[in-house]
Amino acid sequence: MNEISDFTKCKICKIIPDYKSVEKLHTDERLPKEVKELQIIGGYPINCQVRKCTLCGTYYNYYYDHDSQSGVGEGYTDESIERITPKKAQELIKHILKVFPDFPSDLLEPELVVKSE
Ligand SMILES: [Zn+2]
Repeated sequence: MNEISDFTKCKICKIIPDYKSVEKLHTDERLPKEVKELQIIGGYPINCQVRKCTLCGTYYNYYYDHDSQSGVGEGYTDESIERITPKKAQELIKHILKVFPDFPSDLLEPELVVKSE
């Protein structure tokens, strides 16, 4: 039943909200610094990553989008973090391995092994 591990006891994960999006260019709001402590286990080269807490194993989807088009609007920089279930993380990892076959998979493939709980 408990798809997401008990992150409320984790000193990193209890700080990170279920979902948070910030606009960095025009606001001072930032994601919690704990987001940087998560291990990046794979993702699109720059802007979309599966991250994992090294303490409790909770998965996150990290997203970064920077609009640097000059002269069009004011531009923006969006950054977001979302807590995801292990099932969702596996779907993302499978997608990454399919779309980016050259992506280093030494961290990704072990994640696909079904863990017995
Ligand atoms: Zn954690």
